[in-house]
Amino acid sequence: MRWTQTFIPTLKETPADAEIVSHQLLLRAGLVRKLTGGLYTFLPMGLRALTKVATIVREEMDRAGGIEVSMPLLQPTDIWHASGRYEAMRDNLYKVKDRAQKEWALCPTAEEVITTLAANEFSSYKQFPKNFYQVGTKFRDEIRPRFGLMRAKEFLMKDAYSFDTTDAGAMASYQKMYDAYTRIFARCGLRAFAVEADTGIIGGNHSHEFMIPAETGENDVVYCEACNYAANIEKAASGLPKTAPRDPGPAPEKFATPGVVTIEALAKDPYKVPANRQIKTLVFIADSKPVLILVRGDDQLNEAKFMAKTGAIDARPADAKNPADLVHFTALGAMPGSLGAVRNVPTGWKVLADERLRGANGMTTGANEDGFHLRDVSMDRDIQVTEWHDLRTVTAGEPCAKCAKPLKIRRAIEVGHVFKLGTKYSVPLNATFLDEAGQRAPLVMGCYGIGVTRTLQAVIEQGNDKDGIIWPVSVAPYHVCITPLTVAADSPAMKLAEQLYAELTQAGLEVIIDDRDERPGVKFKDSELVGFPIRIGLGEKSLAKGEVEIKPRCGALRSVKTEDAAADVIAWVKAEKAKLA
Ligand code: ATP
Ligand code: MG
Repeated sequence: MRWTQTFIPTLKETPADAEIVSHQLLLRAGLVRKLTGGLYTFLPMGLRALTKVATIVREEMDRAGGIEVSMPLLQPTDIWHASGRYEAMRDNLYKVKDRAQKEWALCPTAEEVITTLAANEFSSYKQFPKNFYQVGTKFRDEIRPRFGLMRAKEFLMKDAYSFDTTDAGAMASYQKMYDAYTRIFARCGLRAFAVEADTGIIGGNHSHEFMIPAETGENDVVYCEACNYAANIEKAASGLPKTAPRDPGPAPEKFATPGVVTIEALAKDPYKVPANRQIKTLVFIADSKPVLILVRGDDQLNEAKFMAKTGAIDARPADAKNPADLVHFTALGAMPGSLGAVRNVPTGWKVLADERLRGANGMTTGANEDGFHLRDVSMDRDIQVTEWHDLRTVTAGEPCAKCAKPLKIRRAIEVGHVFKLGTKYSVPLNATFLDEAGQRAPLVMGCYGIGVTRTLQAVIEQGNDKDGIIWPVSVAPYHVCITPLTVAADSPAMKLAEQLYAELTQAGLEVIIDDRDERPGVKFKDSELVGFPIRIGLGEKSLAKGEVEIKPRCGALRSVKTEDAAADVIAWVKAEKAKLA
């Protein structure tokens, strides 16, 4: 390819609205252009790199026994109602109406479609296991599309769905995908690691997210260097001890706390109740119903855990300034700061308590009377807890639950997700099979996603320097950039460029000749910005000496005899490829 025949609109300035380096480089290196927030056009260099990621994904899916299909992007909403996800997806699901006012959904993921296929196509246990995958566009009405391709409204995803007849079979399918993901990210040159992920209301411990460590990631990952425990903070638990028992007093005792509405204020003079002896009482509206949530005063509620453990679709803290919510505080008898669950809890309200409070006594909590608290509260004796769950957020330094060493926390980008679904979709959508005894049973499913566009950007987020992108050879839009410093068709530099181009492409390398009539500095800067792994510079001076200048993107410039140049570059690219195999 010649630079002038393709389209690489590099930018000198960093676009103002691109917050993270990979987003800036996507734009500066001319890989993509924004149509509007969350929607991007892929330009040739971006498309080539994206196609490489997609090809790696396809190769590894095929290797793991995946069967490639392509499903419609327009989905009838009745299958979403049937699976129960129409509600659960809420506004994330793009809905469109046709001329007859019938509603359709734009594919955010395809469990419903593939399960419908399985329901229609399969009947016998002999037909399994099966694993279908596609690489296709997904649409999600994200509240905050941002960071370029990282969180877009429309993006490319590889989604796969496994069907098995037994739980053990489903676990084997899961493990195959887990292993394939490990290979995919390694081949993309990414330092990915798997973490335990929230499994929502399905339960079990069979969900992992694949994460790329990055300060700009939107996930917090809790991990232990000693034993390799790693989990998304939405799931992570630690080995902190329960609240130490105390001699319980005879009964809760009310005391005046005028103007005290925070844990910190109650911890100070004259009350001096340490945060770890306080119960924090929160009012949430979960699926339109008020609930009380109790966590220890020194702990933070983890809303994701709360949603997952209770199966709530929609939850938010009640707001005393909102008249619709105010009634709930009125029912309790107090405003935030004086709330508790010992008395005045209206009938029908659920009280959810964090496990760390189990068995605690000698605790202090709001009295449900403004300006008063209760001391000597015993969880078991004085509070009617409806459900106990792990609801708190782990913090760095807490002991690992497995090995007691201090836990660490870091930011990461989620690039993939493997999930054992069980019969969540096969039951409502009737995807069943006849077993050996002729009995009908639901298929056991798994689903497996990779954000292909997000993975591409993660490669850039992980591989860059002040000059531009540093691609692994497996994903780079071209392996080699030949930079002749004179570009007239009959100049020696251009002739040599063409000769090298022919030799390198013959050997299977992907090569671009920068045939722009530009100053050398401009060309070198652009080739570094776009990040071609290796450059061959053809200048008058070195040509006169019978040499060319070879410059790996991250290595030192070296002069090589003209006749050795092609073999040198071929060997270099081969060695780089081998590192990623
Ligand atoms: P997130 O928590 O980041 O919203 P998710 O849990 O909703 O992701 P999945 O439904 O598991 O994501 O989708 C599979 C993969 O698709 C994710 O691991 C991620 O790489 C990618 N992905 C999800 N949402 C987006 C998006 N809005 N833009 C780009 N990629 C996305
Ligand atoms: Mg999401």
